[in-house]
Amino acid sequence: MKIFAVIGDPIMHSKSPRMHNNALQVLKKDAVYTRYHLKDKTRLREIIRKIDGANITIPFKEEACDIADFKDESVTHIGSANTLLNINSKIYAYNTDYLGFLKAIENFYPIENALVLGAGGTAKALAYALKTKNIKVTIANRSSFRFENLTNYSCFLYEQLDLNEKFDLIVNTTSAGLYDEKLPCEENILKNIFQKAKFAFDVIYGKNTSFLKLARKNNLEVKDGVQMLLWQGVFAFEIFLECQKPKEIFKAMEMALKLP
Ligand code: NDP
Repeated sequence: MKIFAVIGDPIMHSKSPRMHNNALQVLKKDAVYTRYHLKDKTRLREIIRKIDGANITIPFKEEACDIADFKDESVTHIGSANTLLNINSKIYAYNTDYLGFLKAIENFYPIENALVLGAGGTAKALAYALKTKNIKVTIANRSSFRFENLTNYSCFLYEQLDLNEKFDLIVNTTSAGLYDEKLPCEENILKNIFQKAKFAFDVIYGKNTSFLKLARKNNLEVKDGVQMLLWQGVFAFEIFLECQKPKEIFKAMEMALKLP
């Protein structure tokens, strides 16, 4: 029997065991998927080598990239990984967050220009995703220290953004709104940007955030992060089990999220 896990700190909130175990059951795979609360990042390599593979979540995605023996091209570009595979004690690293995001915005095209709010790990993955589709990416954040790792993109503090510029898609990758009703930046700045935009995407899932509410008020087509969550899971499952049945896996994972 194969063993997989989601590893992070904190980890109790993770929906991955529920999603993966239902897909394993529906697709009749001889494997289990558990969760592992890791405190000390120096133990990540040792733990992965005891199981068949893992999804890595906050705050170990960069460490997951660093410990890999082999990196997918996306991992090298983004600098973080959310999926690790252990084959004969060699660690293979992938990033399915960026693939999940691309799948989630499939009905948003055409997009020429996108504005990514936030400059952390998720912003890096999504900026890379947009770039693979030849979409021009601008990044805005409340502090500038993270811009050092984003040299391939135009980066601005919110107050420095040119409010006359038109962006088709606005993506919120900040944690503003996750546990509160905050917006990622001043309401006036967002209103100006939304008035010229077509689509808004929030990586936060299962919540009508202030960001999404304001986007709807400005008649944008909107989406939260639930499809991204599901699709990153589907792509990880395909890697773990060499099983190319995306529709069946998606359906099983989606069903799992709806269970009480
Ligand atoms: P990081 O810690 O790497 O980055 C967080 C970013 O949010 C930084 O740019 C930070 O700004 C900004 N930020 C945090 N709080 C605020 C605030 N109150 N106002 C404005 N900006 C703020 O986190 P990640 O990129 O790893 O994760 C970000 C979010 O993405 C999380 O909510 C996570 O749950 C979600 N996520 C969703 C996924 C999905 O499948 N739907 C997948 C992966 C992540 P600063 O640099 O100034 O600190």
